[in-house]
Amino acid sequence: MNAPVPPENVFDWLDAEAEKRASAGLVRQLRPRPPVAEELDLAGNDYLGLARDKRVAGAAAAAALRWGAGSTGSRLVTGTTELHTELEHELARFCGAQAALVFSSGFTANLGAVTALSGAESAIVTDKYIHASLIEGCRLSRADIAAVAHVDVKAFSHALSTRRKPRALVVTDSVFSVDGDIAPLGDLARVCRETNASLLIDDAHGFGVLGEGGRGAVHEAGLAGAPDVVATITLSKSLGAQGGAVLGPRRVIKHLVDTARSFIFDTGLAPSSAAAALAALNALKAEPELATKVRDASMNLAMQLKAAGFTLCVPEAAVISVHAPSPGEAVAWAGACAEQGIRVGCFRPPSVPDGISRLRLTARADLTESDVDRAVKVITATAPRGAFAS
Ligand code: PMP
Repeated sequence: MNAPVPPENVFDWLDAEAEKRASAGLVRQLRPRPPVAEELDLAGNDYLGLARDKRVAGAAAAAALRWGAGSTGSRLVTGTTELHTELEHELARFCGAQAALVFSSGFTANLGAVTALSGAESAIVTDKYIHASLIEGCRLSRADIAAVAHVDVKAFSHALSTRRKPRALVVTDSVFSVDGDIAPLGDLARVCRETNASLLIDDAHGFGVLGEGGRGAVHEAGLAGAPDVVATITLSKSLGAQGGAVLGPRRVIKHLVDTARSFIFDTGLAPSSAAAALAALNALKAEPELATKVRDASMNLAMQLKAAGFTLCVPEAAVISVHAPSPGEAVAWAGACAEQGIRVGCFRPPSVPDGISRLRLTARADLTESDVDRAVKVITATAPRGAFAS
């Protein structure tokens, strides 16, 4: 019998989808960057400027030569080295948690934590603006999900006290990745305690930036080491490396080792990334002022943009989000900034809900006054008319 001829048209529907995205101005582009930034980078997440630090990159290179380029297996088989266990120990100690578990990314840490700490017997109550990785975790969890109004403590309380399931998990970002605003962590913890719920906080943008010496928003809120609170972080922003971690009570970490599928069935973090994260953590411990510097740079940039007439939230961390009139104008604005040597991020649907378009800037500890002046000049000169607050 002849083998069936492969049909040419099974993916034709993708072309129709691509056309729809093109006409809505939603086509994305991958632009390789040079090894050393030629533009002023206000788009990356290297908040403390550690990704290219010689201590950090050097530790990664040395670890690759000693341990190999990859971790060679899942954490439970051959993918755990002494670098992984040391990193877990040091992260937990720095943040004031009982224990930590390192994942291959912040995304997999969030997937693992949400799914392992909930299930068909649980209700999950989330802020409606949580990060996509937490949303995916919720979708996989089989729990009852309520996504409530942004930073609305009363709405959390109502959803928790009217839930139908015995167990409950509250899920929130500490610093929201689109607008850079902060969750009311203390109030959420109180509501969780009143309603017998546990609290999971994604501190991806808080760790290294907020709290004493960059210990993060969870530490700053006085929740580090609490028996009912779990935090997740990424190693790819303030630490300039790659990977993620969950921090929390020892029994939570043990439970994740045994049950979190994105931990068990994923190849362990590369030793070079673990070594880089350890070196970056040591740098942050040695220079706790890095956290203050990035917060000051962020505030300075935001205040100058506000004075220039743009609409934005006053930032508490390193994320500054400037309102743009429409998705198309946001893309054109970011493109015009890039042409003038300022690289900024651009958020628009479907990465964020309809009606939200932002020029998204990130501050770094090493931004100078003249960097900030230049950025504000270019952003102002290239702005669409509707970007200025009326
Ligand atoms: N949580 C938040 C709030 C993030 O912004 C990100 C990164 N964009 C992640 C989780 C995922 O972390 P990673 O990039 O390490 O997968």
